[in-house]
Amino acid sequence: MEFEHVEGDLAKTLITEDELHAKLDELARQIESDYQGKDLLLVGVLRGAVMVMADLARALNRHIEMDWMAVSSYGSGTVSSGVVRILKDLDSDLTGRNVLIVEDIIDSGLTLSWLKANLESRGAASVEICTMLRKPDALKVEVDVKYCGFDIPNEFVIGYGLDYAEQYRNMRGIGVLAPHVYQ
Ligand code: 5GP
Ligand code: MG
Ligand code: MG
Repeated sequence: MEFEHVEGDLAKTLITEDELHAKLDELARQIESDYQGKDLLLVGVLRGAVMVMADLARALNRHIEMDWMAVSSYGSGTVSSGVVRILKDLDSDLTGRNVLIVEDIIDSGLTLSWLKANLESRGAASVEICTMLRKPDALKVEVDVKYCGFDIPNEFVIGYGLDYAEQYRNMRGIGVLAPHVYQ
């Protein structure tokens, strides 16, 4: 992949930087058309969504605002429990706003289904979800996702904001971590 220092840590490359950017351009055109004449507040979920947010925001040829939330799912490292704690809340008042949650990945869907309901309860005019990746085979709850970049197999992926033990977020593409790294 793009970074030599991670080469031995990857089982394979899943999505290249070019493929990610092409997909974001596609999603941006849909979003521009769907939100024509409406305000748009992008809400990024820290920290994984930082790269998606930065690239999606720049792919959009329109006015947007950005705000950020940090949440943590209780439970052990790689398994989401569905109990979500807000570590950093939004600065914006959502009353009457059109909110688009920007996420890196939907795995069980528990975090996002909680977050969507939470933001809807604050009086937003609309709350939709844009995620770069989704693992259909891992879903535990139905989540209504309006914009999805790629459906991927149920494997642990890293790069483009996604970490393993806080590393690999700065990889430009997305790859599958080699088992020897975490075994
Ligand atoms: P969910 O609540 O949908 O199960 O979990 C969502 C969160 O779990 C994501 O925002 C992400 O932080 C983490 N996660 C889920 N799958 C993966 C994965 O394959 N790789 C990485 N690095 N994080 C993941
Ligand atoms: Mg995330
Ligand atoms: Mg993580």
